[in-house]
Parts: sequence; C-alpha cells; structure tokens
Amino acid sequence: MPIILVAFAAVLFSMTFTSEYTGFVLGLVVVNAVAILSLNLLMGYAGQVSLGQAAFVGIGAFTAAQLAQSNVPFPLPIILAGLFAALVAAGVGLPSLRIRGLQVAATTLAFGAVAQYFLFKRPWTSNAGTSVQVTRPNLIATDKAVLLMGLIGLVVILIIDRQIRHSRIGRAFFSIRDREDTAAARGVKVGPTKLQAYAFSGFYAGVAGGLYAYLLQTVASDTFDVFKSLGYVAAVVIGGLGSWSGAIVSGGLFAGIQQLLSGIARYVPVIEAGLLTLTPVLRPEGLGYILNRSVFVPLPWVKPRPEEGVGDVRSAIELIAPPKRPLSLSVPTRTLLTAKDVGVRFGGLVALHDINMEVRRGEIVGLIGPNGAGKSTFFNAIGGFVKPNSGSIYYRGKDLLALPAHARAGLGIARTFQQVGLSGPQTVWENMMFAQHQLASQYGLTAALLSTPQMRKVEKELQTRARAALEVIGLTDYTEERVLNLSHGNQRLAEVAAAISTGPELLMLDEPFAGVGPEESEQLAERLTELRAELDLTILVIEHDVPLVASLCSYIYCFAEGGMLAEGSPDEVQNNADVISTYIGEPLAKEAAGA
Ligand code: ADP
Ligand code: MG
Repeated sequence: MPIILVAFAAVLFSMTFTSEYTGFVLGLVVVNAVAILSLNLLMGYAGQVSLGQAAFVGIGAFTAAQLAQSNVPFPLPIILAGLFAALVAAGVGLPSLRIRGLQVAATTLAFGAVAQYFLFKRPWTSNAGTSVQVTRPNLIATDKAVLLMGLIGLVVILIIDRQIRHSRIGRAFFSIRDREDTAAARGVKVGPTKLQAYAFSGFYAGVAGGLYAYLLQTVASDTFDVFKSLGYVAAVVIGGLGSWSGAIVSGGLFAGIQQLLSGIARYVPVIEAGLLTLTPVLRPEGLGYILNRSVFVPLPWVKPRPEEGVGDVRSAIELIAPPKRPLSLSVPTRTLLTAKDVGVRFGGLVALHDINMEVRRGEIVGLIGPNGAGKSTFFNAIGGFVKPNSGSIYYRGKDLLALPAHARAGLGIARTFQQVGLSGPQTVWENMMFAQHQLASQYGLTAALLSTPQMRKVEKELQTRARAALEVIGLTDYTEERVLNLSHGNQRLAEVAAAISTGPELLMLDEPFAGVGPEESEQLAERLTELRAELDLTILVIEHDVPLVASLCSYIYCFAEGGMLAEGSPDEVQNNADVISTYIGEPLAKEAAGA
C-alpha cells in the first residue's frame, strides 16, 4: 500500500509541471488502465473471456453523461455508472452458468455488437446516434484536475482489486478459472462466483466509462465498438493475464501511442495484433512478468508471505484439527458414509452397479481395482460430480445426493482428484489458501472489501492451517513454487496438503501415491496414519499398490467392471480367489503373502 501512495504523490508532483494537453493524455491512459483492469479481473482472475468489454465501458460513459446532464452532482454519476454497468454485466454473464469458453466469448461479442449498433444509437443514450455533452463542475474544470480525479479513481479501483485478490472472493475467482470441479469440491458456488466476477468487472468498466465522460466532455455514439473490445483483450494478454503492472503499462502504452505519436496511431491495431499473437508464444506470462522481475521486486503487498515454519509435525497436526462444525455434524457417529446399491451410467456404459459400502469413523479404507473399474466415478458420485442413476449415499445420515457439490464440502468431506486438481499457474501457497474456501465463509463481501478485524482473524487462521498442512506433508520447501513447476509426485502431495488443511472429517484420496517416490510414499502413509490417530480422521483411499494398501488400511473394497468384486480385511481381500485372478495375479499375491 505505501508504494501506491508514493506513486500517487510522484504523479501529483509531476503534474505541477505538465501542460494541459499532457494532463489530458495521461487522463486517457488512466481511463484505459481502469478499463483494462476490468477485463484483467474477468479474464485473468476468473477465466471468463469477454469480447465485448467496451460495451460496459460505453454503458458507464453514457450513464454518467446522462446523469450529469440531469444535474446529478459529481462524482455520483461515476459511481452510479459503475453500479449500473455491474448490473448489466452480471446479466450478460448469465449464459456462462450453462456454457463455457468459446461459447461465452461469442455471447459477449454479440452483446458488444448489440451495444455498438443498437443501444448506443438510441435517443436515451447518445441522442439518437450523435453524442451527449458533459459539463464539468468547477472542481474539475481543467484537464489536470480531471487527471487527478482519474488517478483517484484508479487508486480506488486498485484498492478494491487488492482486497478482492487477497480474500476468499478473489480466491474463488482463481479457483473457478482453473478447475470448476475442484472449486466446487472446496465449497465454491461456481455459478454465483462467475456472476460476481462479471459484476465486479462491469463495475470497474463502468467507472472507467464515467471517468471517460468527464475527461472528454462528450460521449459519441461510435466510440465503444467491437474493435475497442478486442484492443482491451490484446492489452490484457500482452500485459499478462492477472497482472496489475502489465495491465496498466500495456493499457497506458496503447492509449499513449495513439494520442502522442499520431503518425503511427493508425498502425496501433497492427502492433496490437502482432503482440497479441507473439506474447502467448514467447512469454505467456506477458509484460507484467518482465516488469515484476526487473522493476517492482519485491511487491510486498501482492501476496501475504507465509512466515516461518511451525516446528514439529506433532504440533502442526494439532493446528489442522477440524474446525467447529454445527452440532448435527459433530455428534459422534459410528458410520460416516453409507452407499446403498449405487449405480452410475454414462449413456450406454454402466460405470458402476450395485455398489454397497460403509465407511466407519476413524478407519482408513482402501479402494482397489483395475483401471476403468469405476473407482474415480464412485468418488465423483460422493462429491456430486456425477449423478447416480440408482441407489443412495448417506453421510452422517444426511442424503448426499440431495445436496449440490459445493454444499458437500461444508459437511467436512475433502478430496483429491486423480488428475491433480490444483491451479497450475498459482503457487503452492496460493493453492493452499484456495483450498480453504469453505472455512473462509465466516466473512462476507463487505468484510473482505474493508479488511474487518473478523476477516483478518479468519485469514490468519487459514494461513496457520496452510503452513501446518505443508509441514505435515513435508512440502515447506516448495511454498512459493508454482504448482506446474513441481514434479508430478509433489503436485499430488500438495493436493493432499490442501485437502487436509481444511480439517476434514472424511478425506478421500484418488491415487495419492501415483508418481510419488518410494521414500515420500512411505512418509505420506506414515502421516496419514498419524492423522487418523491424532485427529480421528477417516480416510478413503484409491490405490493400486496392494501391499501398500494392505499395510495402510483396515478394510478394503475391490471393484471390477463397475461391480463389487470383494471386500474385507486386507488378508481376506488379498487371498480372495476372484481378486487374485482378475486383479492381483498369482505371483504378486504370493509375494504379498510373504511366500
Ligand atoms: P477407475 O477410476 O476405476 O480407473 P473410472 O471411474 O475413471 O475408473 O471409469 C469407469 C468407467 O467409466 C470407464 O470406462 C470410464 O471410461 C467411464 N467414465 C468415467 N467418467 C466418465 C464420464 N464423465 N463420461 C463417460 N464415461 C466416463
Ligand atoms: Mg480412477
């Protein structure tokens, strides 16, 4: 935060030297930066592509202009422009609840075209295809004063953006960007989170439009076209998705070039197109990455750093004890999970049939079976990602199938995915924080924006949990590493750490040992046993290595071709004739039996 203040003071100081015209150009740069931050949030944080972002800026500009004409006092028109654009953007985001990717991009492009050719030509927007004049109040009569206003606007947006990024609000955005299923498994309501991202993005864009109206003093009907939207996309990609400095600098660059170097202004779209193509190829992280490396290191306010380690594993385990849950979820029960006659079909394929299973509290239960046996599908049925065609699944006597996926996390169920469910571009630490969305639900949007004491208390607790979980799993050396740079085995371990940080009651691990080296495997098995003993954690684990499962688990289920092949104690299952013939094979069975 101090750095923003210093930058702000520096600009104020420099303004005493600049001409009116420079003030105007810098004003455009600021407006452009705010507009690009709006797309940066939507695309960079939440992963929702918008090809019609200029429409939201336009809606803000016309709203502010019309309000100013109706004598609504400054700066109210700018704020109202932001709020109105937020509302419209949330509406435009509605289709994203059902469709994804390219299809969403197409709907936003369509909205951009409707705005350009219809909305912005109406009598109530642009006086039927001409323009609206804005009279500046005395307070901001000069261009330099408008620049100052723009800077204040930019700083306010940056502060809001920072609060979002460092709270559960923004972490939910990042979660849905990379893996919607993981996000839901951690309690993120995927649909509402998308709409929230659209709304915030619309708010920023509307504010940019409002600032624009006061800067230009006229809003013309043909300003906010689809090409402008594409320019914003280019700026965000060139700047680096999700990067502040990249967004501001690349935005400023294009706005500045267009104004100051009129000779090459008409080539700007060509330069943008070229850079848009080259950036993902040469430097996917964009301009922001280079800037952060060379100029802005370190950015102390960008990410809260984990402090020193916790010490020993024993005290770390205590720190990730289950959080307080409602009484109905904390009365001791003997059985946690009961599946009855569960069947899952994918079209004509029967992935699961007649599955009956009981997981008792405090046990480590193994689930084995050949590839394609339906093990992961069973996990997905419990998690709410596939819908069984028949049967029932109860957790602590609650009908799980009646609950949406995100609600199941609140019951104390945490899981990992066979295809690692972490956000690759984010660090291990960030992923640890994403994972605890459910626990962070103790504070809301207002608390997040204002950093209330309650919010800070919760965040501190999450950080403690994150550190402790990394300590338990032995990953403290990788805290600041991006997940995609970790070995496959360490990615799996990081996902296990993320899952246990939430203090679950039932931990479901889908092949946690796959790709993990023998030493680390042994350590993980040991830690899982300790967690069970210390925290009364119940674990359901899918694993191929039969001797490993046999040593870790007290009860084993074996699936084959979607059905239950066998169940029982490790000895019983290992010596079961069906299991041996279809899964283990004779030599392995003998080896396991110690022969
Ligand atoms: P396992 O985890 O035991 O290896 P899976 O549960 O992943 O097995 O898969 C069981 C069967 O269901 C496989 O034949 C697989 O191809 C199929 N299957 C799994 N998920 C889907 C899906 N979403 N759509 C269609 N078929 C699926
Ligand atoms: Mg599987």
